[in-house]
Formats: sequence, C-alpha cells, structure tokens
Amino acid sequence: MKELREAIRREGKGIGQHIVKVDMFLNHRLDTRLMFDMGRDLADHFRKDVPDIVLTVEASGIAIALATAHRLGDIPVVFAKKSQASNQSEDMLTAMAHSFTHGNDNCLRVDRHYLPKGSRVLIVDDFLANGQATEALMSIVRQAECELVGIGIAVEKGFQDGGKILREKGINLKSLVIVTGIEDGKICMADND
Ligand code: 5GP
Repeated sequence: MKELREAIRREGKGIGQHIVKVDMFLNHRLDTRLMFDMGRDLADHFRKDVPDIVLTVEASGIAIALATAHRLGDIPVVFAKKSQASNQSEDMLTAMAHSFTHGNDNCLRVDRHYLPKGSRVLIVDDFLANGQATEALMSIVRQAECELVGIGIAVEKGFQDGGKILREKGINLKSLVIVTGIEDGKICMADND
C-alpha cells in the first residue's frame, strides 16, 4: 500500500535489526487519514468473505480494526484485553501470547458473549512478526467455535516467520506492507501492491 510505505519511509525508524518504530502515525500518535485508508484497503480485500466481526488486540490494533469494520458496513470490533479486571465476565476465552516488543507474556482475554458461535471473524492487527499475537487470537476464534475468514495486517515483517507460517496453513493473509529488512536504521520494504 503506497500511502503506508510512504509514511514508513518518511516517519519510520529502524531500531537495531528487528524493530520498526512507527509511533508517529501508528503506535502512539495516529494519522487519521492513513488509518481510514488502511481500513479501506483491508475491507476491499476481505469484503467477498463477508466477515461479521473484526477481532483485534489492544491497543494499537483497535484503530485499524475500527476503520476496517466501518468500511465493511459498520460491523462490530471486538478487542482482546491484556489485563484482568474485576468487572470482567467469568466467561472469558483466553490464550497466551509472548510480546515481541515488550519481551513479556500476555494473557489475551475475550468475553465469550462477544464472539457468538458461528460468527465469521476477520482478525486485524498492526504488526505481524513471529505470529504470537495472531496465533493467540486464532486460538480464541477456535475456542468460540467461530470461523476465521482471514487476517489483515498493516505491517508484516517478512524477515520473521509469522507470515510464512500463516500462509503455509492456507490462511487468507493480507499485509498492506511487507518490511524485508532493516539496514543501518533504514527500513527496506517490498513492492507488494
Ligand atoms: P508477533 O506476535 O507477530 O510476534 O508480534 C506482533 C505484535 O508485536 C504486534 O501486535 C505489535 O504490537 C508488536 N510488534 C512486533 N514487532 C513490532 C515492531 O517491529 N514494531 C512495532 N511497533 N510493534 C511490533
């Protein structure tokens, strides 16, 4: 996706050899126009699969999920929570995910009532690295006895295994941009439009 590649080129910073820092428009400050452009492209890709819920994980997935769900006809967004709260339902679906950026383990939680059995679920997230977050969300989709229609990602890091593993499983994966590497702080990207 041209607009996202340009934003990464303009504002992105490569940290070491593995981390893409895009706080300026995706992970801290949000570029509103870009969010809705990403939502448009993900919705256009998955519209034929007729999802009826978009599932993501807090916090950075929410904006892209919202933009995508809006373009899919204002279907609901459900986001997995990373912490437990006293007002949470007793009936939570859970799955563990190791965070690549924070180096800790998160227990992702979704109230079963928000993923009715048989729903057609589209997973959306900001980054795909080793695939831990998407694997945990897929586990929650399975536990809810829902159908996964596909996975939409803003930035896939092609030099980590997540994308390869999902494609080998035959999952409909759409990544708007694929980062191929980081060289001396420069973020290299594939022209995958
Ligand atoms: P995975 O679970 O696929 O290993 O990593 C995906 C999750 O880790 C995403 O939800 C994202 O929040 C975070 N993440 C992984 N790599 C990066 C990165 O290079 N930059 C940023 N900003 N987040 C990342």
